[in-house]
Amino acid sequence: MKYALGIDLGTTNSVVSVYRKGKVESLSIEGSKTVPSVVGFKDKDTMLVGKMAKPRVIIDPEHSIVSVKRFMGDRRKRYSIYGIDYSPVDVSSIILKKLVEGAEKALGEKVKDVIITVPAYFTDAQKEDTRKAGEKAGLNVLRLLPEPTAAAISYGLDKGKDQTIMVYDLGGGTFDVSILDIKGNKFNVKAVDGNSQLGGDDFDNKIVDFLIDELNQLGKDIKNDNSKEAKLARQKLKEAAERAKIELSEAQSTHIIIPEILGVSLDVELTLQKYNKLIDEYLKDTISKIRSVLKSARMTPEDIDRVILVGGSTRNKAIKEIVTKEIKEPWISEHVDEAVSHGAALLAASLTLPEQDFSPAGKLEYHDRTGHSLGVELLDERNHPFFRPIIVKNTEYPVQQGILAWTVRAFQEQVRVQVFRGENKDCKLNTKLGELLLSIRNLSKDQVPIGAIFDLDQDGILHFYCVELPINIGEQQIIKVVQHAINNGNFLDVESVRKLMESKMVQFLKTEIKSVE
Ligand code: AMP
Repeated sequence: MKYALGIDLGTTNSVVSVYRKGKVESLSIEGSKTVPSVVGFKDKDTMLVGKMAKPRVIIDPEHSIVSVKRFMGDRRKRYSIYGIDYSPVDVSSIILKKLVEGAEKALGEKVKDVIITVPAYFTDAQKEDTRKAGEKAGLNVLRLLPEPTAAAISYGLDKGKDQTIMVYDLGGGTFDVSILDIKGNKFNVKAVDGNSQLGGDDFDNKIVDFLIDELNQLGKDIKNDNSKEAKLARQKLKEAAERAKIELSEAQSTHIIIPEILGVSLDVELTLQKYNKLIDEYLKDTISKIRSVLKSARMTPEDIDRVILVGGSTRNKAIKEIVTKEIKEPWISEHVDEAVSHGAALLAASLTLPEQDFSPAGKLEYHDRTGHSLGVELLDERNHPFFRPIIVKNTEYPVQQGILAWTVRAFQEQVRVQVFRGENKDCKLNTKLGELLLSIRNLSKDQVPIGAIFDLDQDGILHFYCVELPINIGEQQIIKVVQHAINNGNFLDVESVRKLMESKMVQFLKTEIKSVE
């Protein structure tokens, strides 16, 4: 039997699942279904991963690596341990290797094929790094699957009923809300929204601010203090804040006690009511995202058959209340920590097994949509830069789209095309994904047309291509040039350019867009 795994590579814990003997299950690795996403070094030659590494975080933090997921996509981040440098990709690949080896032991088989889940709001760099980590671990990464979609698959498969569900996913650092249509074995994402800068960490920080005010009243002001002591104190406050937050998921009130901090002792009561007030702006933001995702899907709360909660921060009482008030009482999975990896394992099995061996409802199909617009910076008639979406928010992918733009100046030698994601007209307020420098070969006193193609692949990773086109080019010629580009090893999708021509977008763009600088 050739197995394919579903891996939920989490910030704090990871879970591995597999579909076998007609059902999906999480695998026990070193006696537990959740494996801490921790790597530690006992000495230069002894690396520990998972369960064995976790207790060392407290006694030997300098040689322990936690929460590496937060640094995926950060190409400058390095962990230097015993003189060896590790990138976030290296660390994640070590964790993945451990997970797969554990799974192989449980299954008694070698495994190569995996699906790894990622937050819906992961950037391209974060997704690329996740894929790289898998490949570095010697795995064949069939797909990267958005966590909300995975949760929906785990919930919705085999229910024997068509339905529309909302997945509300609030983790440590990101918030996603998605609406999916489930028809038999077909999962269709109708709309997604969210905030990539909102999560449980922000809740902790609000409590920290509150505690800093309390410390101030004891004569200790660290608000604008960047000393080592102040940083250490903030770290202590942060840990206490997270503990208090977690307690308030069960209790009406909690005592935050720090026996020694900056020479004083702190003992403060935090009530649930006060805590909810502290995080009110974030709660309101998630409400507005719930409303906007409904609007994008052209639905009302009555159209939603089920709301599924995913992510550690949904244990927060206020979140359950919000969801109940806005939509309906949320459904909470029996296997809340395993649901995401279950979904990934089901899709992995569906992609690799012969149809008759995957019984839940026949082959699984899913279509996802981008949660944000992707585009470039262009200049308007007055040479003011603005954001021009090429693939707009909520477009189903995989998809390819393109535009034409022009150089600004006579004899311009180079074009710098900057790629952003976001919804703001002002590029500075969007997230920059990268840029491409294109040298102009045929310098001209006239404006030179530039063709740009965005290719959003099945993992939701954007590939961006740019090509210089001859001046006064006609439709037939463009296709020829594109063909030439392809023959010369440059990728460019002929069909996209043809569609572009048919849609008269080129003429439209000629008047709307002046140029790229
Ligand atoms: P995840 O990324 O899904 O693992 O979620 C991690 C976030 O969930 C962190 O901010 C945790 O502090 C938070 N979290 C975990 N357990 C709880 C809980 N019982 N109540 C509130 N927040 C929690």
